[in-house]
Amino acid sequence: MARSSRLLCVLYLVTGAALASTAVVAFRYGSAWAGCLFVAASLVQVIAVVRESVLCDHRRAAARLRRLHAAPSAHPGTALDVAVRSQLDAACCERWWTSLGTDHDSACRHRTRRSSAA
Ligand SMILES: [Zn+2]
Repeated sequence: MARSSRLLCVLYLVTGAALASTAVVAFRYGSAWAGCLFVAASLVQVIAVVRESVLCDHRRAAARLRRLHAAPSAHPGTALDVAVRSQLDAACCERWWTSLGTDHDSACRHRTRRSSAA
């Protein structure tokens, strides 16, 4: 959690505690509707703390995704990505790739001469 988020949470909790104590005073010496209003206001502060922690989790997840996206070599991806990468690395030449491995380019080092007897 960032420093500003922690500070906000502390402020929310202090405000919520002050509103809760005001609610107690209102129930004892004031009117019940004012006490209910202060209780509701103190619960809003608790909701704000929960929301701030959820936002912190979202920020952390976004930062993790940004790091994963920035350094793809450190995280090779799924097994399918690895399989496709290995097949692409094993490809010989373009003609070999498009002919499903039956023929090679004329400049390819793997080109074998076809015998005239075949
Ligand atoms: Zn080839």
